[in-house]
Amino acid sequence: MALTGIQILKMLPKKNCGECSIPTCLAFAMKVAAGQVEIDECPYVSDEAKATISEASAPPIRTIKLGAKDNSFVSGGETCMYRHDKRFENQTGIAVLVTTEMSDADVDGRIERFNKFEYERVGVIMRADLIAVKDSKNDEASFVALTKRVLEGSARAAIILMSDSAANMEAAAKICGDRVPLLYGATLDNADDMAKLGSSFKAPVGVKASNLDNCVEIAEKLSAAGLKDMVIDTGARTLRAAFEDNVVARRSAVKAKFKPLGFPTITFPCEITDDPMLEAMVASVLIAKYAGIIVLGDLQGDLIFPLFLERMNIFTDPQRPMVVTEDIYPLTGPDENSPVVITCNFSLTYFIVSGEIEGSKVPTWLLIKDTEGLSVLTAWAAGKFGADLIAQFVKKGGIEDKVKHRDIIIPGYLASLKGELEEELPDWNIIIGPREAGHLPVFLKEWKPS
Ligand code: SF4
Repeated sequence: MALTGIQILKMLPKKNCGECSIPTCLAFAMKVAAGQVEIDECPYVSDEAKATISEASAPPIRTIKLGAKDNSFVSGGETCMYRHDKRFENQTGIAVLVTTEMSDADVDGRIERFNKFEYERVGVIMRADLIAVKDSKNDEASFVALTKRVLEGSARAAIILMSDSAANMEAAAKICGDRVPLLYGATLDNADDMAKLGSSFKAPVGVKASNLDNCVEIAEKLSAAGLKDMVIDTGARTLRAAFEDNVVARRSAVKAKFKPLGFPTITFPCEITDDPMLEAMVASVLIAKYAGIIVLGDLQGDLIFPLFLERMNIFTDPQRPMVVTEDIYPLTGPDENSPVVITCNFSLTYFIVSGEIEGSKVPTWLLIKDTEGLSVLTAWAAGKFGADLIAQFVKKGGIEDKVKHRDIIIPGYLASLKGELEEELPDWNIIIGPREAGHLPVFLKEWKPS
């Protein structure tokens, strides 16, 4: 049960020293209760209190980390059922499967596509996260060799080791070095050995169950053996079953605080269908409904890109607009004769406008006004992109020192501001730009200083 701020305050030293960067212990306790700061920020709190508070404030879905310290994949940490309740914390990991039964060419092809398919959108890099290495022949030598091939083929992939044999798993885990792998394959029969491996490699263990009840049994057995970090596979191998199990697991963990299901799930669209298109559709449902990791049979650009986009949309914090910093952005090397364009700091607007300007190859000064992440018209309607604020930014931002001319191009949607802006910026010529960013290249090419 989560602790209240007052309950947390009772466990604090109450020095009100401010060393946690918050002026009072009460304010600090309230922020810890709200999940806004970590209890570790207070240097004076006892270890006992720290353990109690950390345990009570831990998210119902445990956070697990894979990979190296400076390049880790994080899953779990979820606290709610629906994105609009708060936000989803860590996006679904997308993995590609390689097995010891595949030819070297097939394995290398998958590793190459894993490394190759990388896209940038609104300043965020979208790409796959993990490679699942399967010991499908139950053979230590080939499993270790395949793991080595993957480690060398991709420096950034988080690794999922899949084997039913604890001995094979140990041999493969040993060569992973500081890239902490997920040790997938714990059953009721090998749970004790897998728990020992998890503890000795400080690695999360993947539960490989045949159904939900079996999953709970295995998770409880691993927990009893002292293992804390797990990822769970309920064994569902149809879309309907995987969907239902993911929902049941999330609901049990978040609503009923049922710990054996309070872990990220791993799902296998690659074992639900052989059809790549259908596999992508299954994956899209499971990304939307709580999968911690999805494992695909292969990666294809036309199928993976929509999954990346879906994932990005779902895991964007709905309460925090995506913004870029208010500033003057020099695009493609502008000088004192280059055009000046102004727009809002909603990141999608920035990346579309800057993309069009860069594509036009017209050196341009792009002024980005802080509108708290609102788009042009919304910001104007909310009073955050009015003539007075734009004028203030133009006067104080420093653009007057960068250009000889005094033309400023405003978004076409703000045409009604022209008169007001002329009053606020009497030295400037207010030019009404196009409404759509796609028309900017032609507009800029034709622009001449007044
Ligand atoms: Fe209180 Fe600790 Fe913060 Fe000092 S550092 S104000 S003792 S919570």
